[in-house]
Amino acid sequence: MSAEAKKRLEEQLKKETGGVKQSYYDRLIRTAVQAMKNAYAPYSGFAVGAALAGKNGKIYVGCNVENASYSLTNCAERTAFFNAAADGCRHFDAIAIVGGKNGVVTDYCLPCGACRQVMAEFCSPDFEVIMLGSKDIKVSRLKDLLPDSFRLP
Ligand SMILES: [Zn+2]
Repeated sequence: MSAEAKKRLEEQLKKETGGVKQSYYDRLIRTAVQAMKNAYAPYSGFAVGAALAGKNGKIYVGCNVENASYSLTNCAERTAFFNAAADGCRHFDAIAIVGGKNGVVTDYCLPCGACRQVMAEFCSPDFEVIMLGSKDIKVSRLKDLLPDSFRLP
């Protein structure tokens, strides 16, 4: 992230959150950017990183992991959730997602339907999904991204 982009992001975070959540969002986004560097995406070239905030205070990272058998590919978001589950964490506050072709962020990286369903398994409707764009961030709630998730009766 360039110094100019960082400054712009910090200004937006301060404006949107009144400064209260600025450092929290900033930390999650920075962690997701770091995780994106580990993406294994030799087929699409589209690298994604995710940073998932557990209620236990830990941040769990994930990156997309592609496979020559395309359907076996796992998204960064689900990788982060499975990473957390393996650590015994089941409760979360937010996830930051960053992605772009060759790791260059040009737009918000929205979670796919499968990842939204995995979020619904563990998270409340108010779970925050923080997405980094080229100029700013967008924060959505799970209830708006997946209003009618699948539930076993
Ligand atoms: Zn996904």
